[in-house]
Amino acid sequence: MTGVVPGVVPDAVDAAMVRALELAAAAQQWGDTPIGAVVLGSDGAVLAEAANEREKLGDPTAHAEVLALRAAARAHGDGWRLTGATLVVTLEPCTMCAGASVLARVARVVYGADDPKAGAAGSLWDVVRDRRLNHRPEVTGGVRAEESAALLRAFFRAKRGL
Ligand SMILES: [Zn+2]
Repeated sequence: MTGVVPGVVPDAVDAAMVRALELAAAAQQWGDTPIGAVVLGSDGAVLAEAANEREKLGDPTAHAEVLALRAAARAHGDGWRLTGATLVVTLEPCTMCAGASVLARVARVVYGADDPKAGAAGSLWDVVRDRRLNHRPEVTGGVRAEESAALLRAFFRAKRGL
């Protein structure tokens, strides 16, 4: 599924996922798990991008999504609100990042591979679409999922020294 996302030019979303995959690949240079994220404004323009920097920064919260959302809020210029924005990330967000995207009021979350071990956008939890929350972004998964999964598989295989 390449994901037709209402309200955003699908080409912009796909291009953002291609860029997020490049960022993910780069994270391996400093020993971080290859995960990348791009935040698009409501017009489809790139507001911010980031890779996973947990190892690099020694910061348990330095997931690609959190770093990208923080930078996007600075670029967006509406305080902390990312109204109309789309978070594009290579791997299904964890509970923290799914929560952050809800709190940031993004309109959409588009992700690549499912994360059956920690995913909070449908796999293990569904924080993003929890009806008890007053803001629920639209969710599209599976965009370039195989490319993201292949990066992660290769990273963990190398880590195990196989
Ligand atoms: Zn996360």
